[in-house]
Amino acid sequence: MLAAMAIFLALAAFSPVASARAAYTTTRVAPGLYSFGGGLAFNAFMITDEGVIVMDSFDKDFAKESLEAIRRLTDKPIRYLIYSHNHYDHIGGGEVFKAEGATILSHEATAQWLKRHPSAEVVMPDQTWSGAKSELKLGRGAINLVYFGANHGEGMTVFQFPNERAIYTVDLVVPHRVGFAYMPDFSPREWERTLAEMDALDFEQVMYAHNAPVGPRSSVADQLRYLRDLRAAIETELKKGTPFMQIPDTVKLPQYATWDGYAQWLPMNAWRVLLEIAMGV
Ligand SMILES: [Zn+2]
Repeated sequence: MLAAMAIFLALAAFSPVASARAAYTTTRVAPGLYSFGGGLAFNAFMITDEGVIVMDSFDKDFAKESLEAIRRLTDKPIRYLIYSHNHYDHIGGGEVFKAEGATILSHEATAQWLKRHPSAEVVMPDQTWSGAKSELKLGRGAINLVYFGANHGEGMTVFQFPNERAIYTVDLVVPHRVGFAYMPDFSPREWERTLAEMDALDFEQVMYAHNAPVGPRSSVADQLRYLRDLRAAIETELKKGTPFMQIPDTVKLPQYATWDGYAQWLPMNAWRVLLEIAMGV
């Protein structure tokens, strides 16, 4: 079962979300704040008195279903689609919301990267925000856009909902799962710093992009603990004098054996952290 799941997760990373998706559902996290999706893809949307704000679109089919789910709840206009970061697999299909009149917004670093690396699947942002924090207000709704610096991808935005005491964090926290494969485009050190800073924000619920729609704030600390335990285990092997090339297959973290991806991805995660220790990046 675990192996089958790992293969499923691995395949899904290289194919459109739509081809590997579970049935999608809408989850109400707080009044006006929703998660939509299933399995490997969950976006977020907020319905305010002046319109709707959508966070991430994944791909065209997902975006269409997400729009249908919103339309079952409200006929208010889609005012914004906000991109979490630059990775194509999270921000394809934006034209579905743009056709509804949405303004597409991203961090400046995301937009700059997309200019250099355009994708036919990804609509360029119409507007950008910059710096470490920006507040987006729409009617009675408010979202803090928070940028913790380079941790994963470009311009990674954590969405904080101050009134609902929740956050939507993409890729940085995936509940009950080790790091994805070889942790592509992650800086493990900066990821750890980010999780510690994220854990200092005021929130009770965490909305995710993968594995589950929503969970408790303790999932942020759980993700950080995994990364710190992994780093500590690698440093122990280095101190013991274990040959460098053998370290990734030597490291075991049995306390995480029930987490998704453990058997297949732990050695890949270990390579990523070991190389960062050795190379500095
Ligand atoms: Zn990503």
